[in-house]
Amino acid sequence: MSTIRLEIVTPERKVFEDDVNMVIARGVEGELGILPKHAPFVTPLVVSALRIKKGKEEKVVAISGGFLEVSQNKVVILAEAAELPEEIDVNRALAAKERAERRLAQSGKEELDFKRAQLALKRALNRLKVAQHK
Ligand code: ATP
Repeated sequence: MSTIRLEIVTPERKVFEDDVNMVIARGVEGELGILPKHAPFVTPLVVSALRIKKGKEEKVVAISGGFLEVSQNKVVILAEAAELPEEIDVNRALAAKERAERRLAQSGKEELDFKRAQLALKRALNRLKVAQHK
């Protein structure tokens, strides 16, 4: 089966690197499946669970926004933050979720705080979902 190189990096570290068969990501315009020999391409990513297929295995990575670039049979994801399921601290994500929900209840919809809390809630829910793949 043909492969494509996948690298997931954050400003802090390299989270993942391997030759894989398919990458399924959620860009701002919707879900995309990237196969080997995909044409050059760049898109911003939304907070989402990235899926990686290799043989019969599927891995999931929590991505907290960033960019995806495809070039020369390589996918590079530069994420604001990214965690593998086993790296996720579930209690921390639960605390972040509760904090965000409290802030959403306290601030008006037009306020910057509301938008920030909405994003924080998305990150926390995404981490809780990905952590289930441990
Ligand atoms: P928190 O309020 O708990 O810090 P956050 O969504 O604001 O959550 P980020 O700013 O997205 O956190 O991430 C900051 C750093 O902490 C990143 O390196 C990220 O990988 C890590 N991180 C955040 N939440 C968790 C978690 N629940 N488990 C493991 N690492 C986490």
